[in-house]
Amino acid sequence: MSLTRTYRAAETEAAGAELAASLEPGDIVLVSGELGAGKTTFVRGACRALGVTDPVQSPTFTIGRRYRGRVPVSHLDLYRLGDLGDEDPGLLDDYLTKDAIVFVEWPGRAGDDWERVAARVTIGHAGGDEREIELEA
Ligand code: ADP
Ligand code: MG
Repeated sequence: MSLTRTYRAAETEAAGAELAASLEPGDIVLVSGELGAGKTTFVRGACRALGVTDPVQSPTFTIGRRYRGRVPVSHLDLYRLGDLGDEDPGLLDDYLTKDAIVFVEWPGRAGDDWERVAARVTIGHAGGDEREIELEA
C-alpha cells in the first residue's frame, strides 16, 4: 500500500501515468472516492500514458467508453448502475475484454467480486486542491 499527496490535478494525472506503466492487457484497476475526488483525473493521466488521445471524461451518462491507445482501454463509471433497472449481467462484458486495460470508477456499485484486479486506488479530498491517493497494487 502506498500513499501519495497531490496538490493539483496535473499531479494526480501523473500518479495515474505512473501506475499505467505497470499495467498489462487484462488488468482491471478499481478507482474509488467521492464525487470530485479526482478519479477521472487519475484515469485521464493513465490513459494518456497508454497512448489514448481522445478526450477522457467521466462517462457518467453511459456505463463506459472504450478508447484506442497502444492497447485497448476501457473506462467504466458505474455511479448510475443501480438506476439502469433490470441489470443485464452481461452489461459490462463489452468493456471487460481480456485485450483491454480497464479502469472502473464506483466499482462497488457492481459488488465486491471483481476478477483480474491489478490495483485498487482510493482518492480522498484533503482540503482545497489537496488529495490523498491510496494505492494497493
Ligand atoms: P471524480 O471523477 O472523482 O468525480 P474528477 O476527476 O472528475 O473527479 O474531478 C476532480 C476535480 O477536482 C477536477 O475539476 C480537478 O481539476 C479538480 N482538482 C483539483 N485539485 C486536484 C487534485 N489534486 N487532484 C485531482 N483533481 C483535482
Ligand atoms: Mg469521474
